Order: sequence, then structure tokens, then C-alpha cells
Amino acid sequence: MKLRLLLSLLALPLVAQTTPFGTKVSAEPAPAAAPATAAPAAAGISDEFVDDSVQISPFRPSSLPEAKTTRTFQLSKLNRLGSAETTKELQRLYSAFASQSIVDGSPAGSSKALGYVTPVTYSVLQDLGDNRYLAKAAWPAAGPNEALAAGVDTMALLLLEKPAKAGDTGTIKGMHVGAVAILFTPDFAPLKGRRLTLRREAFVECVTLEESPAGLQRFVEAITAGAELSATTNETIPCKKCGGLGFTREAQKGQLVDKRIPCADCASTGKQIISVETKFVP
Ligand SMILES: [Zn+2]
Repeated sequence: MKLRLLLSLLALPLVAQTTPFGTKVSAEPAPAAAPATAAPAAAGISDEFVDDSVQISPFRPSSLPEAKTTRTFQLSKLNRLGSAETTKELQRLYSAFASQSIVDGSPAGSSKALGYVTPVTYSVLQDLGDNRYLAKAAWPAAGPNEALAAGVDTMALLLLEKPAKAGDTGTIKGMHVGAVAILFTPDFAPLKGRRLTLRREAFVECVTLEESPAGLQRFVEAITAGAELSATTNETIPCKKCGGLGFTREAQKGQLVDKRIPCADCASTGKQIISVETKFVP
């Protein structure tokens, strides 16, 4: 329900032509972690009347990175001698699955999150209507290689479950749905009364699957019944370039010992972290 609301918000036509900034609104790349109080330099068009309408348009979609590699977890091989399918591994992957699944009104009761889910601590700055709020927010980085950069004391758009008012604080599980352009009139200092557009990360409050033995049981039953489920995890593998050594060798003319060249691919650690999608099969 919430998700549908947000997606319909994001589906609104671009408002670039109708803003004081012309088409720049949708053409200009926004820094991922802009200073919290940043406002476009050109803002501050003073109108005779106070235009407090709010327009929100998609600016940059959320992008879950493509998993570098895929593999399958075959339930029928569980705990067979020599197989990678162990109870411990199933629990680890189920834990990832649960944290990547949003409870919703779909027939299965949940579906795959469309963006990174991360705890978002917030303090509401302004009610923008329809349960949308501009808030001072903070969240830890999420995704492989911090695909979603951490937010520290930055403004963000939140779609909350329950009505809130300016000054309300809390922590939610937020699903990142990308960046949006918000055209509005702030009613807080120091931007009060200035019609302006901010480009900010947007999060939808969500509930992820509860991780429990019963949940794991339902998960296994769903796979057995033919549900196509998968979980994405970060896995550490030996660096392909240096074979896990952290350096490559280069023969030196007239010398017995090779020159060791630090591996740039893995910063000499010998390890690489890759995103792996594990598909579950009966
Ligand atoms: Zn390497």
C-alpha cells in the first residue's frame, strides 16, 4: 500500500519546466551526500502570494547493483556429506532474505525490497502532506561497497507509516527508493518562505520479514512449493588478479628473485568482496 503510494508519487510527471530553475532540475546531477542546509544558490524568488504547494518528482532511481555472480542452494542437498548446503549456511542466507524482503499485501505476504533497507533516524522538519515528510536524517551505508552512502545529519524525504508533525523524532526501517526533487516552500529556518527545489534521498518506512524458526520453516515450504526466491549477499573471494597473494610477480633480468608488485585490484589484501545472488531450489 505504502509502496504503491510512493511509486505513484515517483510516477508523477517531471516538473522541470514549471520550476524557477527551468530544466536544470532534472538535468543536473545531485551529490549523494549534499550538506544538510544546502539550498540552490538561485533560490529566493519572492512572490506576492505564498505558494505552499508541493511537487515531488523522481530524480535518480534507486539502483540495486547487479549481482556479480549467481549460484543455487539446493534444499535436497541439505547437510549431505561434502555439500555446501548446510543448516548454518541456510540460516545465514535466510537471514539475508528476511532483511531484503518487505512485508506487504502481495499473495505471498512479502516481496523483494526494491532498494536497500537501512535504519533511518530522523527528526521531522516539515509535513509535506500524504504522509510525506522532509526530515533531518541519518543512516548507515548499505549494500556492497557502500552502494548507498551513509547519511549524516542530512535532509531526506520520508514516507512514514503514521502521521507525524514537525519536531517528531524516531527511527524507522527505511527502504531507499532513490533521490527525488522536491519543490516546496520551507516553513523552517533558515529557508523559511523561500520557494525552492531540493534533491534528496527518499525512504519508505517498511517492515521486513521477521527472522524466526517459524519464518524459516515457511521459507523452506515456499521453496519446496516452487516459489522462486533468492538472497543477495556479499562474499569474500580470493582476488582473481593476484590469486589471493596480494601481489603479482615480475621477472627481473639477471636476478633470481622476481619483483613483487602490489595488487591494485585488491589493495594488496588478496581478497575481493563480490555481490552474489543465491537462488533457492527444492
Ligand atoms: Zn589482488
